[in-house]
Amino acid sequence: MSLPSSVKYAVIGAGVHGLSTAYHLAQLLKQRGLGSGEDILVVDKGTVGSGASGIACGVIRNNYFQPAMRELMAHSVEVWESDPKAYSYHPVGYMQISPECMREDIASIYQQQQAIGYESVFIDGAEASTKYMKSLFDDWQAQGITSVLHEKRGGYANNMASMHGLAAKAEAEGVSVLSGVEVQGFEFGSNSGAVTALVTNRGKIACDTVVVGAGPWVNKFWTMLELPKAIPVKVNGVVHDGVPMWKFWCLEEGTLGVDPNLHKTNDGRFPPVLHVDTDAPLLSDRDGKLITDKIWGIYYKPDFSFGGIQGGASPYKVDQDPDHVAVDPYGPESPDFVVGDDFVDMWCSALAHCQKRFEGKMPFYKKEEKSGGLGCFTPDNFPVFDMFRENVYVIADSNHGYKMIGVGKLVAQELVGEKSALLEPFRFARFAKGELHPTSHSPFPWS
Ligand SMILES: Cc1cc2nc3c(=O)[nH]c(=O)nc-3n(C[C@H](O)[C@H](O)[C@H](O)COP(=O)(O)OP(=O)(O)OC[C@H]3O[C@@H](n4cnc5c(N)ncnc54)[C@H](O)[C@@H]3O)c2cc1C
Repeated sequence: MSLPSSVKYAVIGAGVHGLSTAYHLAQLLKQRGLGSGEDILVVDKGTVGSGASGIACGVIRNNYFQPAMRELMAHSVEVWESDPKAYSYHPVGYMQISPECMREDIASIYQQQQAIGYESVFIDGAEASTKYMKSLFDDWQAQGITSVLHEKRGGYANNMASMHGLAAKAEAEGVSVLSGVEVQGFEFGSNSGAVTALVTNRGKIACDTVVVGAGPWVNKFWTMLELPKAIPVKVNGVVHDGVPMWKFWCLEEGTLGVDPNLHKTNDGRFPPVLHVDTDAPLLSDRDGKLITDKIWGIYYKPDFSFGGIQGGASPYKVDQDPDHVAVDPYGPESPDFVVGDDFVDMWCSALAHCQKRFEGKMPFYKKEEKSGGLGCFTPDNFPVFDMFRENVYVIADSNHGYKMIGVGKLVAQELVGEKSALLEPFRFARFAKGELHPTSHSPFPWS
C-alpha cells in the first residue's frame, strides 16, 4: 500500500496499544456516525508485534496494590474475555503467593477486588497457604509463604497470535496498518504547536490527530515532541525538581524446555499463572550455593507457544542516560539486553524451590533462544495516558501494558471527546500535583 499524503488519525506503533486504539476507534467512529476505520492509519517501523507486545510473557492479572491500576485491569480483562479466540487468551487464572512482608498489601488487594466484583480467593497464614498450594500441586515446597491470592479470572495470552488477532480486527474495520514506516520527526503548526504532519522515512503524512503507542521507544517520541526530559515530582508534599522523565529496566524472562504437560494441577488441569515472592534463602539447584537471602520473586506458566515452562524474575535497572540506551535492535536481537547465566541459575533454582518436579531440570533451560527485553518507565513506574501539544495522545504504559488491551478502548473514547474516569489517575499532571500511586512491598516495579 502506498503512503497516504494525509489522514485523520495517525497511530504510531502496531503493538497492543496502537492496534487496540485503532480497532476500538474505528468501531466508535462508525457507531457515532463520525467516520470509520478508513480514517485511521497505523504505521510501524517494523511490523505488527515488533516491539514489547510481540515478546511479552503475556501474563494477564488484576493483582495490583494501586486501586486505579486494579480498576483498569478489571476493564482490560473484560476486553480479553470478549474474544478469547481472536486474542489467543487462556483464562487459567492467576496466583500471587507471598511472604509476610507483603501479606497486608495482598489482603487489601483481595478486599478491594471483592468491592469491584473481581472474583478471587484469599488464603491467610503459613499453614493454610501450604495446604491450599498442596491441594493444587502435591509437590509444592516453597518456603516463607504466608498468604495466597488466587484470582479466578485472568491468565495469559500468546503474544504474537494476539497481536495478529487485534490487527485483523482493526483491518476488518477498514483501518490500514503499514509496516516499514519509521516516524523520524513531526511538523508543528506555526501558531498552535500542534502536530500537523508525521515526517517518515517514506515521506510526509499530514494528520489531524496523532496517537503514540511506541512502547520502549517512548523516550524518543518525547524528545521529538520537545517535551521536558526532567520534571518536578511532588512526593509527600515536597517538590523534587529535575527528576528524569524516563528510565529503563531490563526484563528477564526465559523458558525451561520441558514438556509443558509437566506442570499441571493434581487433577490434571493446566494451572493458573503462578507468581511467587518470598524472603526464604534461595539456594542454587546446581551446586547448593546461596543465590540470595533477600526477597526474590518469579512467575511461570506452562506455555506451548514458547515450548516449555515460560516465565521470569525481577527486572534490573539500566543505569544509563535514557538517551544513550540502545533500544535497537530490540528484544532477543539486542546484544546488551538479553538474559545471561545468572538469570538461568536464579530462575531455574527458584522453580525447583517452589516445586519438586523442577529439581534437576536446569540443563533443559533453552539457552539457544535469546530472551528478555527493555521497558521504559515513568518517575513513579506507572503509566501516563494523556494528550500533549493539543492533538498528540501519548500512551506510555510504563511497561505494564500487554495485559492492558482495554486502554485502547478508553483512549478511543477520549479521542471522540468522552473523558474516561478510569484513565484520569494517569495524567501527566499527577507528578507536579503529587497525586502519585501508592507503592507496595513487592520486589517488582510493576506491582
Ligand atoms: C520481556 C517482556 C515481557 C513482558 N511481559 C509482560 C506480561 O507478561 N504482561 C504484561 O502485561 N506486560 C508485559 N510486558 C510489558 C508489555 O509488553 C508492554 O508494556 C506493552 O507491550 C507495550 O505495548 P505498546 O503497544 O506500548 O508498545 P510495543 O508493543 O513496544 O509497540 C511499539 C511499536 O512501535 C514501533 N515503533 C517504535 N519506534 C517507531 C518509529 N520511530 N516509527 C514507527 N514505529 C515505531 C515499534 O516497532 C513497535 O512495534 C513485557 C515486556 C517485556 C519487554
